[in-house]
Amino acid sequence: MIEINNTENCLKGKTILVTGAGAGIGKSAAIHFSKFGAEVILLGKTTAKLEATYDEIVKLGYPEPAIIPLDLNGATKQNYLDMANTIKDTFGKLDGVLHNASSLGTIMPFEQMSEEMVDEIFKVNLTSQFKMTQALLPILKLAKTASVLFTSSGVGRKGKAFWGAYSISKFATEGMMQVLADEYDNTQIRFNSINPGATATKMRRIAFPAEEQAKLTQPDDIMPIYIHLMSDNSLNINGQALNAQ
Ligand code: NDP
Repeated sequence: MIEINNTENCLKGKTILVTGAGAGIGKSAAIHFSKFGAEVILLGKTTAKLEATYDEIVKLGYPEPAIIPLDLNGATKQNYLDMANTIKDTFGKLDGVLHNASSLGTIMPFEQMSEEMVDEIFKVNLTSQFKMTQALLPILKLAKTASVLFTSSGVGRKGKAFWGAYSISKFATEGMMQVLADEYDNTQIRFNSINPGATATKMRRIAFPAEEQAKLTQPDDIMPIYIHLMSDNSLNINGQALNAQ
C-alpha cells in the first residue's frame, strides 16, 4: 500500500508530457498535474480535444500548457526526435511522461482479428511508446529527477479471451517498463506502470456498453496516485506494476 500525501505545488517546476490528453484519464491527469503546479505538454490525436483541455487548464488559472497534436499510429522516429528537440528548446528538460494514449480495437475472437487492426494497436500502444521513450531519454536525463509512467490494464497482467492484441500490447508495455526500470535502476529516472481499473471513459463505454457509467469510478477519482508517482514523493518507487484502485 502506497502512502499518498500530495501537497500543494508538489509538481511545481516540473514539465510533464501526457499522451491522450484530450479525453478520459489523460485529460484528467493533465488538469490535475497542472493543478499541482506542473507545466504540461498535451499530446493527442485530435487537436480540438487538446485545445479543450488547454482551455480548461487556462480557465482554472493553472500554468499554461503546450500542445502537440500527433497521431501515434502514423508517427515516425523523426517525429519523436523533433518533439524532443522542441521540448528541450522550450522547457530545457523533461521531468515526467505519462504514456496514457491507447487504442482498444474491437473485442473479438483471436482468429478474426485483422492484420490492420493488430498493427494499429501495436503501433499506438507499444511501438510509439518505445520510440517516444527512446527519443525522450536524453531530455529526461537533463531533469534532476524524472518519472515515466506506463498505462497498463487488468488484461495486461492476466490474459483474457477476446481482448487479443490490446491485452498482448499491455503485457508488452509491462515488459518495457521492467526492462527500463532495471536498466536505469539507481539513476534519477524511474519507470513504473499503472492499471487504472474500471474507469468511466469512452474506451470503457465501448468495451462494456451495458455498464452504468455513473456508477463507475471517474477519472478524477484515481488521480491521487498519478500525482504521487509524478512527484518527488515517489522517488523510491521504480519497476512497480501498480493499481490505481
Ligand atoms: P479514452 O478512450 O477516453 O482516451 C484515449 C486517449 O488516447 C484519447 O485522448 C485518444 O485521443 C488517445 N489516442 C487514441 N489513439 C491515439 C492515436 N493514434 N494517437 C494519439 N492519441 C491517441 O480512454 P481512457 O481514458 O479510458 O484510457 C486511458 C488509458 O487507460 C489507456 O491506456 C487505456 O488502455 C487504459 N485503461 C483504461 C481503463 C478504463 O476503464 N477506462 C481500464 C484499464 C486501462 P483522441 O480522443 O484524439 O482519439
